[in-house]
Amino acid sequence: RESLVESIKETIKEKNVELLHVQFVDIEGTLKHVTVTAEQIDQVVEGRVMFDGSSIAGFTPINQSDLYLDPDLTTFAVLPWTEQEGYSEARFICSVKKPDGSDFAGDPRNVLKKTVKRAADQGYSISVGPELEFFLFETDDYGQPTLRTQDVGGYFETSPKDFGEKVRLEIYKALKMMGFTIEASHHEVAIGQHEINFKYSDALGAADAATTYKWVVKTVAQQFGYFATFMPKPLAGENGSGMHVNISLFDTEKQENAFYDESDELALSEKAYQFIAGLMDNVKDFVAVTNPLINSYKRLVPGYEAPCYIAWSASNRSALIRIPASRGAGTRVEIRCPDPSANPYFAYAIIAAAGLDGVERELTPVPSVNADIFHMTKDELDSRGIENLPTSLEAAVNRFEAGEIGLKTLGEHSFGEYVALKRAECDAYRLAVTDWEVKRYQSKF
Ligand code: GLU
Ligand code: MG
Ligand code: MG
Repeated sequence: RESLVESIKETIKEKNVELLHVQFVDIEGTLKHVTVTAEQIDQVVEGRVMFDGSSIAGFTPINQSDLYLDPDLTTFAVLPWTEQEGYSEARFICSVKKPDGSDFAGDPRNVLKKTVKRAADQGYSISVGPELEFFLFETDDYGQPTLRTQDVGGYFETSPKDFGEKVRLEIYKALKMMGFTIEASHHEVAIGQHEINFKYSDALGAADAATTYKWVVKTVAQQFGYFATFMPKPLAGENGSGMHVNISLFDTEKQENAFYDESDELALSEKAYQFIAGLMDNVKDFVAVTNPLINSYKRLVPGYEAPCYIAWSASNRSALIRIPASRGAGTRVEIRCPDPSANPYFAYAIIAAAGLDGVERELTPVPSVNADIFHMTKDELDSRGIENLPTSLEAAVNRFEAGEIGLKTLGEHSFGEYVALKRAECDAYRLAVTDWEVKRYQSKF
């Protein structure tokens, strides 16, 4: 730790870092920060930066509002877009502590750390590789987002149709300078839709990376006059944006991927099957976390590469769970329902917890489905026992509140706050009269 602090101080000097952004996330996974001068580096690394928890959604009541920011030193990064001759800014991502030094239970990072610890107690570390898609929209004269995309490209489009290439290149450069290993970058299926992939890491590192990625994408897009959004379904009739989560367990004793078994027909281990079964068994109870918005459920409909039925497959992109082809150390499960508006800390925690629940209970998954589920009739779906994911936020929150996995994973504080937040979201939607209703009903009735 001492040497890490020393090397951070060296970088601060070398890069002329003047300001430090001391960051954390709220209950929705939204990045927040307070900015201090670099002279205060000792206060920052000693966890002495304080803030008012009562002003953060889902945190503390006004009479117990003081909270402290405990930086994860490995998240220190100079921000490439602030660098000028003799000037730059840097950031730390922090966990939140109470004044008595204990972990604050409302901090999503602390929630994920608990799940990581539970897995470690069972002999596993959790690897997560998320894939976050986003749209680039043009802005109006006031810098506000419009619904005009900046290109009409499609899947794997090249220049000159893909105007987004230049923006993605700058995003790539910025992420790389912040320590990301970028694996691929491409135009996605929808107009104006993009994806940049980074290497998997441990669950906490992946949630920090997803949070940083969203921030960098939005910041760089703005410099080009575009607005980047991770809203799940901005355009009706086009593909929405997903956050596929690739996840695997690493056996820390045997030092190997716990999902791989070359003797099996699909080269999957018993643990892998149990993990899949755990995901399928718990998914209805956790989609309120992985798909947190009213709008999330407009993405989970047939025909847009997003899942809506609870099934698994070794290849099928219409299934909820897909097993990507790579084996050996790369053996993993891809769960396709999450979208990038989810709080990544809660999402990776609850997905891992659901899978581990299957391992603990030694569940067996139903047979995989290799046919295209989107084109099955109701009878075919029923005869195979294929069920639907919840079709609205309200249905999802009902399941979440009644289920066990939410409370078990988020803990009392975060669970209660999250349910209240999502209920308020459902109520706000119920009060709204949408354009669709007015168009459909006003002249007819
Ligand atoms: N955009 C699709 C979704 O909503 C996923 C496309 C893909 O397979 O990358 O999840
Ligand atoms: Mg994609
Ligand atoms: Mg994928």
